[in-house]
Amino acid sequence: MSYSIAIDGPAGAGKSTIAKIIARKKGFIYVDTGAMYRAMALFMLRNGIKPEETDKISAKCREADITIQYKNGEQVVLLNGENVNGLIRTEEVGNMASSSSVNGDVRRKLVELQQQLAKTADVVMDGRDIGTCVLPQADIKIYLTASSNVRAKRRYNELRGKGIDCDMEQIESDIIERDHRDMTREISPLKQAEDAVLVDSSDMTIEEVADKIISLCK
Ligand code: C5P
Repeated sequence: MSYSIAIDGPAGAGKSTIAKIIARKKGFIYVDTGAMYRAMALFMLRNGIKPEETDKISAKCREADITIQYKNGEQVVLLNGENVNGLIRTEEVGNMASSSSVNGDVRRKLVELQQQLAKTADVVMDGRDIGTCVLPQADIKIYLTASSNVRAKRRYNELRGKGIDCDMEQIESDIIERDHRDMTREISPLKQAEDAVLVDSSDMTIEEVADKIISLCK
């Protein structure tokens, strides 16, 4: 039986940073499910589809073949065979992902892929519905959060670090809007699983959070 760690939480809580550290320390595979929703969103944007065009999203998602590969331990997302890792980290794609991920057809397709990955390997998987929906039998479930202000600051620093010009207030309002959409959608909304451990990273360092989660794995 493979082992799985599920990490859910709102945007900017530090899920991917923490999940990568845990994966490295435990020798597990890191599965970034947000990247799959982002690849799907990129596909929609490229096809000129708007967030509110639900029927078009349902129809079009059948044409998007999303797969995952690992190169030097890094997850590579392939959209119809094209490596789109370098194209999915923009705010535009993130906001579209938050809209298109509301769609049941999109979710069914990606959840299946995520469940297959967890069957074949020990994984640390992060997202919004991993503990509640994708891997309800996960060995460890974490709900990782932080205040919206702290999360906005982190995202701002991350974008600035990459040389991307951005506005702090805009980022915070986007984060609040995206969380609201993720938490109130009908299908698999973001919420803490009953058996998940709540970790608030607002006043914790990355190492403290990673150590806490690893200590739960024993
Ligand atoms: O985590 P990240 O910001 O990359 O995710 C982008 C969007 O994809 C989220 O705002 C959320 O709407 C969606 N998502 C989801 N379920 C997941 C992972 C991401 O709905 N498991």
